[in-house]
Amino acid sequence: MKTLLSLFSALFFTLLPQLLYGQNAKAMRYDIRMLTGASMSGRGYVDKGAEKAARFLVRRLREAGIAPATTDSSYLQEYNFPVNAFPMPFLLSVNGKELRPGIDYLVDSRSNPFETEAVKAARLDAGHVFVRNAPGVREKGLSANGGVVFWQNADTLTKGTFLRNIDPDQLSAGLYLVPVKGKMTWTARTSRMAGGATVVYVQDSILPRKVRKVEARLPSKFLPASRQYNVGGLVRGTAVPDSFIVFTAHYDHLGEMGKGTVFPGANDNASGTATVLELARYFAQKPLRYSVLFLFFSGEEAGLLGSKFYTENPLKPLANIRFLLNLDMVGECADGATAVNATLHPEAFARLEKLNNEARFLPKLNRRGEAANSDHYYFSEAGVPAFFIYGNGGKGHYHDVFDTAEELSLTNNQDLQTLLIRFAEGF
Ligand SMILES: [Zn+2]
Repeated sequence: MKTLLSLFSALFFTLLPQLLYGQNAKAMRYDIRMLTGASMSGRGYVDKGAEKAARFLVRRLREAGIAPATTDSSYLQEYNFPVNAFPMPFLLSVNGKELRPGIDYLVDSRSNPFETEAVKAARLDAGHVFVRNAPGVREKGLSANGGVVFWQNADTLTKGTFLRNIDPDQLSAGLYLVPVKGKMTWTARTSRMAGGATVVYVQDSILPRKVRKVEARLPSKFLPASRQYNVGGLVRGTAVPDSFIVFTAHYDHLGEMGKGTVFPGANDNASGTATVLELARYFAQKPLRYSVLFLFFSGEEAGLLGSKFYTENPLKPLANIRFLLNLDMVGECADGATAVNATLHPEAFARLEKLNNEARFLPKLNRRGEAANSDHYYFSEAGVPAFFIYGNGGKGHYHDVFDTAEELSLTNNQDLQTLLIRFAEGF
């Protein structure tokens, strides 16, 4: 009996790290599944998707015994911003054939609502606008004038970014169909085109040779003050609790483009959100000398608005941050990871690189200079030492309907976590 028991306990303790590792991976998969699930509507501006995600994060922090970073017990920092949302179902058909939203076409996020029964589309050659780099549309006779136009040849000359040479606010009301080739990338926008236009980018390959009749129902709803939350949790430091190591990730994504067309944002940025949750659970068990602050931002996709608001209204003094690590798109690290701001903080990067070389956590660590491309930016501007870490590898799903939990490999994500834990422990 005794031998059996000791055998059992020996087995148990040998397997414990394995079990814990399995538990971690399981918890993280659960978080990603929840964040990308249909109930969170792409964590955007339809059906309170972002708010549901915020409440989920609060629940997960509470369950892990992590204290709120707020002065009250809510974990939530409320703010708002304007956003153009697409909460109602879309319909777009060309020559009687219905197109698939998100796959066959994307609406420009600054679009006004547009609706028409099947009407004849005017075919206008957009080519010469771009050839001459001309700013005008109306004077070129390319205006929709309240109806529907198909801008022929917009794709061949501009690779889908046809509005680069045009002020979208100058476009008159009406529906502009713009053929594009290759990957389509959606965005979130805080304003509408002032002239009343609706612009739709359509995959050139699925369009009939001649676009004749177009039927459309493309509603949008402008929200002048969409209510938003940043979420903050804190693990108190054992020696210097008023100084902070900070981990950040944005949990918002693009939401839905018309009811039912969800942009799940698994890599961008359920991956970073789940990773920071995972790190929070780790440091709750193994606190550092310094306090560890975990911040989850909304509004990133609409222009880093959550982190901007936070840096203007910090829950803890920015000057007391020893270092900040922002994780955005860390679900694919097959080819390693990149640190933005590496050249700005060469000593910190050298330490990170040394840690990685010693244990070969990641196959490669790339350095980059400053870039205003994620939530580290406003912290950097405020003088906070910060890296933005993103993974390299994967299938390249980005701001599209294909960035799903099923497609996310999480290759080397655990190794990245271990590397960042070692880095944080070194302060
Ligand atoms: Zn994004």
